[in-house]
Amino acid sequence: MTITQLRTQELRHHLDPHLAAMPADPWWLVTRTHQFAAAAGITVDVVLDAVTWCRRTGLQVGRWWAGAAFVGEPGARVPVPLIYLNRQLCPTRGQAELVIVHEMMHARWPSYGHRKIAFDRAQQLLDVVPAPRS
Ligand SMILES: [Zn+2]
Repeated sequence: MTITQLRTQELRHHLDPHLAAMPADPWWLVTRTHQFAAAAGITVDVVLDAVTWCRRTGLQVGRWWAGAAFVGEPGARVPVPLIYLNRQLCPTRGQAELVIVHEMMHARWPSYGHRKIAFDRAQQLLDVVPAPRS
């Protein structure tokens, strides 16, 4: 396991177990992404299909990617980062929380890469966005 995989696994969401086990439907994925973006102080756009992602970014996504974030290049950042979530690899709400904050850390703090500080920021997002009641 790489250090990045390890740091990803160490992220902790705050959903109740029954909520965490529920399917992450498109509404959930989009709504939670915007909630985490608000907590990060940014606006993002979110897409759930790879074709749209490729068309809008000119980049490919691997079929094994749970998510991706497009922020442009250093010095030429896009005003609204684009986040892609792969529904097949975010099957439950609990798993989706971790993928969303991972991509949000790239969208909000792109220069941090996969350093520990990036994952600290991702955990802070998980800590401040309240879990829905049901
Ligand atoms: Zn990453």
